Amino acid sequence: MTEKLAWVENELSQLKEAGLYNHIRSLNSPQGAWLQVDGKRVLNLCSNNYLGLANHPRLIEAAKKALDEFGVGPGAVRTIAGTMLLHVELDKRIAAFKEVEAAISFQSGFTANLGVIPALVGKEDAIFSDELNHASIIDGSRLSGAKIIRFAHADPNDLEKQLHEHRKDFRRALVITDGVFSMDGDIAPLDEIYLRSEAANALLMVDDAHGEGVMGAGGRGIVNHFGLSGKVDVEVGTFSKAFGVVGGVVAGNAKIVEWLHQRGRPFLFSSAMSVPDVAACLAAIDLLEESSELVDRLWANAELFKSELKKMGFDTGKSVTPITPVMLGEAKLAQKFSQSLFDEGVFAMAIGYPTVAQGKARIRAMMSAALSEQDIEQALAAFESVGKNLGLIA
Ligand code: PMP
Repeated sequence: MTEKLAWVENELSQLKEAGLYNHIRSLNSPQGAWLQVDGKRVLNLCSNNYLGLANHPRLIEAAKKALDEFGVGPGAVRTIAGTMLLHVELDKRIAAFKEVEAAISFQSGFTANLGVIPALVGKEDAIFSDELNHASIIDGSRLSGAKIIRFAHADPNDLEKQLHEHRKDFRRALVITDGVFSMDGDIAPLDEIYLRSEAANALLMVDDAHGEGVMGAGGRGIVNHFGLSGKVDVEVGTFSKAFGVVGGVVAGNAKIVEWLHQRGRPFLFSSAMSVPDVAACLAAIDLLEESSELVDRLWANAELFKSELKKMGFDTGKSVTPITPVMLGEAKLAQKFSQSLFDEGVFAMAIGYPTVAQGKARIRAMMSAALSEQDIEQALAAFESVGKNLGLIA
């Protein structure tokens, strides 16, 4: 290690000491209820594969067919020669599914946020941002150069107060909130946030990465859940979670989408989604439009898992979605819990600072339609046994 990199070594050791070092496990199997992880077969409570689509035969078949017909890569950024008819079809189909005027796909949800926020606001403007918004919203906001004004988590009254105090000092205002908060599984009070944003003449953007395919009728998302279809200016989404693939999307007002074709930097300067990914996303939309069976199963699983954990005496925090945190407090305890679960054949991640606040470490268990009732019972038995061994439940 050269002298100039000694600081990295120091930082890494500090992370390890604090129990905050990310130990990344590698999978040797497709995503699904069961995974092969570090040579061991374990029950999967980690991924965002809410509907089990990541390894669904219909998506695989669609991806293979598109590969044979159109090859692998898009070859360019979308504005040069990277837009295939498949991309155009995806944009149209996702807009129709989400009941909005138009949509534009990006390479990921992260880049969708990096693209849309700086396209909408700049130095003379303000962003009113929920204090627990996702990292990609924070990065997109910083990139825009707009003044970032945080409001208390999921608190429309504080949003109103901040808008009242600061809105007048800025040219444009953009209110941004996650739809479903990925660490606690709680949701934004979007109906109230919409009213306060409208009253202050502010644009409203919701990042529905964890709500798409999960919330609302047949998985149409949090805007549908609140009956606000057509009213929210910008919905950011991802194809990497419930859709089981990878990619991102900005959906909503047609003028904003047209503007992003001209000014969305990751759209203009980074190549399009790959061919099989786009085809698989289209197959995912087909499945969701055909039936709500997978979404219904996801919710049934989530309700069973959460209610049984609560009966055992675990604290699942504020979750009202399939994201199920088991609150533990200290990062080291959460890591120990996760390791003990793994020893019992259950793969569930410990989450600590800086992903969540200090002292709020937890196990984050993700429910999926891919899990059978028997899988969930097995997971519950492991939580009970580990909880008892560590003296956390009676
Ligand atoms: N927004 C939120 C709220 C997310 O949870 C995530 C994924 N962790 C993203 C954006 C980024 O999505 P992607 O994985 O498609 O980049």
